[in-house]
Amino acid sequence: MKILMIGAHQDDMEFQGSGTAMHFCRLGHEVRVLSMANGCGGHHILSPEETSRVRREESRRVGEILGIRYDVCDDVDDCTIVADIPSRRRLTRYIREYSPDLIITHRPNDYHTDHRNTGLLVQDVAYLLTVPHECPDVPAMRFMPVIMYFEDTFRYPPFEADVVVDTDEFLEKKLEVADANASQVYEWLPYTYGQEVPPESDREGRLAFLRGPSVDGMTDGEILAADENSGYVLLYAKTASRHRQKLIERYGEERGRRVRTAEAFMVCEYGAPLTEEKRHLFFPF
Ligand SMILES: [Zn+2]
Repeated sequence: MKILMIGAHQDDMEFQGSGTAMHFCRLGHEVRVLSMANGCGGHHILSPEETSRVRREESRRVGEILGIRYDVCDDVDDCTIVADIPSRRRLTRYIREYSPDLIITHRPNDYHTDHRNTGLLVQDVAYLLTVPHECPDVPAMRFMPVIMYFEDTFRYPPFEADVVVDTDEFLEKKLEVADANASQVYEWLPYTYGQEVPPESDREGRLAFLRGPSVDGMTDGEILAADENSGYVLLYAKTASRHRQKLIERYGEERGRRVRTAEAFMVCEYGAPLTEEKRHLFFPF
């Protein structure tokens, strides 16, 4: 199976889909990541050129940790992704060349213009993948991939989880993937949240900052009420707490209640339907 995760930025997939990517890889599926922008906007001190260079190297490292190919649109600056015809055609060609069975991307309602336009581009491209006269230089696909969305918490309309995945066994590796995005998790994002971060020389302190407080013993209510910028364990735990009922339906009462961290995905209606057969094929874990 071929799975394509399309994020607007390098780190979107890491936070919302890397645990599931690890499940896919272990099953022997091929996972590829495409970042629609070059990451140049993700810093407050480094120049845009320097930032995108650093981000490229961090993504290379993420690809190495996950054992996947990580593509970046180097010529598209952050905050400039638009759903225009050239971008649509470029994405049509890219997806056709890879021919994925499953695509996961953002919903087109999101706070960030890049996320919105990435979701919109994938929606725009969906039907065109199979239309031979559109981009005739790359053969049209003969099947429609299943398309799904990463989780978000925007409410109008709300995200509705169709699949919730237990990612507990990959938590440490998922934290390693977050750590690989050092310029974001220790510099840019804390700057935007006004957080103090231990210096680079204090490796232990940094990892403790990244991890944040333990969620052991916390109820779902407490986890959901906690500040979401208090470490990545809590952030990933919020998904499990938000979708507890779905986890119980999927894994049974005992395991479903025990899951601490999860990732959630919603089906896009413009791709192929996620039939029961495909659900078992893609998400047997
Ligand atoms: Zn993003």
